[in-house]
Amino acid sequence: MLSYRHAFHAGNHADVLKHFVTIQLLQYLNQKDTAYSYIDTHSGAGVYALDGTFASKNAEYDTGIGPLWERTDLPPELKEYVDLIRAMNPSGKMRYYPGSPYIADQVAREHDRLRLFELHPADSKLLADNFRKLEEHAAEQGIRPTVRGKRVLVTRGDGFQSLKALLPPPSRRALVLIDPPYEDKQDYKKVKDTLAEALVRFPGGTYAVWYPLLQRMESRQFADKLKQLQCGEWLNVVLTTHTPQPDGFGLHSSGMFILNPPYTLEPMLKQVMPYLVKALAKDSGARFTLESGTPTPLRGNGMASTRTPRAAAPGTSRNAPLSAARNTPLGAARNAPAGTGRPTGPGAPRAGGPANGRPGVARPATDGRNTGPRRPVNRQK
Ligand code: SAM
Repeated sequence: MLSYRHAFHAGNHADVLKHFVTIQLLQYLNQKDTAYSYIDTHSGAGVYALDGTFASKNAEYDTGIGPLWERTDLPPELKEYVDLIRAMNPSGKMRYYPGSPYIADQVAREHDRLRLFELHPADSKLLADNFRKLEEHAAEQGIRPTVRGKRVLVTRGDGFQSLKALLPPPSRRALVLIDPPYEDKQDYKKVKDTLAEALVRFPGGTYAVWYPLLQRMESRQFADKLKQLQCGEWLNVVLTTHTPQPDGFGLHSSGMFILNPPYTLEPMLKQVMPYLVKALAKDSGARFTLESGTPTPLRGNGMASTRTPRAAAPGTSRNAPLSAARNTPLGAARNAPAGTGRPTGPGAPRAGGPANGRPGVARPATDGRNTGPRRPVNRQK
């Protein structure tokens, strides 16, 4: 079943959390010269036109990246994320939103490797087109690859199945992002099984999993299941932007679960998440939770025993509820069918130049339905 199109959700609050955290994970890897692999098992189209038919249908970005767009008081880590998007939109009007592959392309360095998987025929074509255009543009600028082999490989295929062949990566450094649609409840199990196998092959990798918090049992139990995986440490951050609606529609919360996170991540999130909650709060139910720990021992009967997180930091609004910080309409994801994983509705990046020495302009392919003029995209780091 391949009905999910990320273009409907581009730039929503879940993307904000996922992409801001992903940038920080990549920046941590950037601190050492040794090359790394960025493996995106569920890549999507790479770039989204927010004025395209899909993204504008529910305009989920209005309650995601929207409230951050013009803020001038962003904490540095959020500014880095917003600046990357600002650089794609040099006119100042927010028209394009990056997917995780584009973000990785901008933040990773010339000698790092991007391995991108996407199963949907239309989105895998858009993804390949986007990266072909970026390469063509680089060639036009006279920029030639400085290392052997392809920096970016786009594969139309099953990311769950393809991951194992890439592990361990040659340099023994990698960030793996696993971000499936979860429309099929099997995705929860597939994520866990894929990670269990990946950790055997490459125990030292950093693995980041995005997941929705929904009524369905698989979703509610998901984080606790991931805590059983045999990694070094884990970190789980959840962003809730509003009180769940009685009809169960709409995505109110999502999480990033990270296996083997950098030690810098938790203190950074403690600093930044209160700001993010306030900025994206739709009502007094907005909050975040942040917990970390080591793998939960399994009892003989296969059930998890009591877990002992290393630290737990409650979201600000859990203890001191926020009043609605903004008068944001609540209906963005309201038309999502029940039971789907995501509501299906109807060097720091710098503005003005690439930090990785890669070219500055390319034309993105988007959801294929946006026939409006395409704007150049700045490449940064
Ligand atoms: N990671 C992207 C981002 O942050 O911009 C968004 C990815 S979207 C949530 C999930 C994508 O996974 C969809 O484009 C869908 O077509 C694709 N997909 C679904 N099942 C897949 C599979 N088994 N392997 C690879 N891609 C898959």
